[in-house]
Amino acid sequence: MTLPEHGNTTVTGRKRLHVITWGCQMNVYDSARMADVLAPLGYAPAEAPDGADMVILNTCHIREKAAEKVFSELGRLRRLQEARAAEGGRMILAVAGCVAQAEGAEILARAPYVDIVLGPQTYHRLPELLARAVRAAHGDRAGAVIDTDFPPEQKFDFLPEAAAPQGVCAFLTIQEGCDRFCSFCVVPYTRGAEQSRPAAAIIAEARRLIAHGAREITLLGQNVNAWHGEAPDGGTWGLGRLIRALADLPGLLRLRYATSHPRDMIDELIEAHRDVPTLMPFLHLPVQSGSDRVLAAMNRRHTAADYRRIVDRLRAARPDIALSSDFIVGHPGETVEDFAATLDLVRAVGFAQAYSFRYSPRPGTPAATVPGQVPEPEKERRLQELQALLRGEQARFNAGCVGLTLPVLFTGPGRHPGQVVGRSPFLQPVHLTGPAGLVGTVTGVRIVAALPNSLSATLVQERACA
Ligand code: SAM
Ligand code: SF4
Repeated sequence: MTLPEHGNTTVTGRKRLHVITWGCQMNVYDSARMADVLAPLGYAPAEAPDGADMVILNTCHIREKAAEKVFSELGRLRRLQEARAAEGGRMILAVAGCVAQAEGAEILARAPYVDIVLGPQTYHRLPELLARAVRAAHGDRAGAVIDTDFPPEQKFDFLPEAAAPQGVCAFLTIQEGCDRFCSFCVVPYTRGAEQSRPAAAIIAEARRLIAHGAREITLLGQNVNAWHGEAPDGGTWGLGRLIRALADLPGLLRLRYATSHPRDMIDELIEAHRDVPTLMPFLHLPVQSGSDRVLAAMNRRHTAADYRRIVDRLRAARPDIALSSDFIVGHPGETVEDFAATLDLVRAVGFAQAYSFRYSPRPGTPAATVPGQVPEPEKERRLQELQALLRGEQARFNAGCVGLTLPVLFTGPGRHPGQVVGRSPFLQPVHLTGPAGLVGTVTGVRIVAALPNSLSATLVQERACA
């Protein structure tokens, strides 16, 4: 990831920081916040790791091979670290995120040139960890610093105000961790227990993002719709109420949230979809499987029929809402009949887009050791079949947009000269030949063509809603 330049940070003795980010939007947000923590120490973002004073690998552990990718990247960085040392400089190497949390000791054993290992809940302690690492000699394993605690304090209370402007579309983490313990998932072990930030802190951060140019904010959490935070009056709000408060902020044109669990899709939140126009008609609501047997084995605590009822209620509240989902194929015990039930559910719901994965056993999770593991070639066969169906659903949804006039939030220049790119309400990328001045506005455009993953449009009017 390339982090944007820090806005108003006063930098003395400028040092170069390069952050490499894997994984979800929450990791992208975390990387920006780690840069915020280091900015007062003189670290400014660098485009490349070559010659950097510090490189952070912000890692993801959700599926296998993540750790192997980290070790191969570390091998490459080691050479850059040696080159820096040969010039008389020093490159501090830090591994952060969920691989660090799960495999910290292994990282230091296999890559003793790593200076710092820190988990997702301790990055507010980076200045202290960095000071300790700097005091230790390079490559001194005994001096390497490891902090994978789940500290009693909430890191958000100790982070500086976000300094890095994120652009027109910004992320804001409101909830972390998860108490649901799905059979396949490492998140409860790597991110820890569910924690919700207070509403006042979220609103203050949203105001700052808007002041820095954000027009769309996506609220983030591993299980974001479980958010229940302290309200400004001392009571407790749910996500629906928070959305209503954020929608009132001047300058904010669009709100989204991800990722949600079906069990936490409560009435108050569905009603926000009905009542709050700023809340976009798009929801990523992972179902994982269409088979009740597999859903029970996954400890999802909902059935396929429950999921369809939630979709019906959402569509009754907001008829144009588009749905997205995650699917896992080949969870232990999944039979061809179970898999057929997943295909049936996809056909019945009609998703605008979706992500699908082969089940990947994660060490320490219950599903990793149960009998009935599905052979890899069979998982692959099912994945291909599901993805072909999902591609067809997405193509159908995109084709249905052709001829419509949609409000698009333009986010930046497109790939070709004279082009700008934006997002439809349904999160589709939309390309258009038009003036750069459209960026940051919501403008009504006519959709003229549908591609597999995006739309092309022409202008019908200028600056409709900004
Ligand atoms: N909290 C979200 C939910 O409950 O649906 C999901 C968060 S998880 C970070 C993102 C997605 O990764 C999951 O929805 C799931 O489809 C996929 N995933 C998680 N663990 C997996 C595993 N062991 N193998 C394959 N896919 C996995
Ligand atoms: Fe993982 Fe999501 Fe299940 Fe939590 S609800 S354990 S984050 S899949």
